[in-house]
Amino acid sequence: MKQIAVIGGGTMGNGIAHVFAQSGYFVSLIDVKQNMLDKAMATIDKNMGRQVVKGLITEEQKLHALGLIKTFTLLADGVANADLVVEAATENIDIKLNIFRELDALVPEHCILASNTSSISITKIGSVTQRPDKVIGMHFMNPVPLMKLVEIIGGFKTSKEVVNQIVELSKKLGKEPALTQDYPGFIANRILMPMINEAICSLHEGVAGVEEIDRIIKLGMAHPMGPLQLADFIGLDVCLAILRVLQDGFGNPKYAPSALLVNMVTSGDLGLKSGRGFYDYSHGTKDMIIAPGFNKN
Ligand code: NAD
Repeated sequence: MKQIAVIGGGTMGNGIAHVFAQSGYFVSLIDVKQNMLDKAMATIDKNMGRQVVKGLITEEQKLHALGLIKTFTLLADGVANADLVVEAATENIDIKLNIFRELDALVPEHCILASNTSSISITKIGSVTQRPDKVIGMHFMNPVPLMKLVEIIGGFKTSKEVVNQIVELSKKLGKEPALTQDYPGFIANRILMPMINEAICSLHEGVAGVEEIDRIIKLGMAHPMGPLQLADFIGLDVCLAILRVLQDGFGNPKYAPSALLVNMVTSGDLGLKSGRGFYDYSHGTKDMIIAPGFNKN
């Protein structure tokens, strides 16, 4: 594999492009919005700059890796020579099915089609292509350059050979793969999202404030960040979309998203990426300032 196409230049797409380029792959980064591509390249440049400062890579290595990434707004322009596509577009089933239908007709026959989806069925995504044996879940964690795990999901028709190829590729990127079956939310989000949702429900019911909830889980359970801060970091729209997939997929009301989460997403408070969620990011991310409306305690 030499040529990788990454679809979606948001929170995850920039990190995925970063790690592939740093491992020497040619990367086409594709997003429907030019401003997202500009933002993604600025983020990659900044994050690689941090690696230089920490002595993890040299300035030459940074410039070489940046030079391997090209950006495109049209799918057809970026995927024609791809050996692997990693789709990291918005967590919405219709968007993903349309992308995979289109991709199937555009990429070479040998090309593997991976999705970074947090929860959507890989079997369903594979079923809209003529190559369900080559469709797989390659679920990176946020922030991609730092997090070791890649959750790998084989759909009902994914071949063992393709699963093995993606396991080996993940190791080449310096990651540690873990295999799961294709059921809603796989493992990571089936376990994480109910915790985040319960934290939001507790906040909504007034059981404790933002700071207390995050402090209890952080210090009490030795998590690096509390569930509300993590939800902001993931994106509240992404959390809501995953909870809906769990709720629909299992038909179990225990996954019903908190009404507070629904209202926050509807009003555009999406967490870090919109500047405001449970915390206010207008002054950066270092000082955890509770967002207005939640700072009553
Ligand atoms: P995001 O909202 O930050 O970015 C999504 C990007 O996709 C946007 O830039 C949007 O313009 C682009 N896009 C939408 N439709 C497109 C299309 N048809 N073609 C090309 N680009 C298109 O979302 P994100 O948080 O980066 O999530 C991307 C995927 O990764 C989702 O499936 C999500 O579930 C998954 N994921 C997210 C996280 C996280 O912490 N945010 C972690 C693991 C996996």
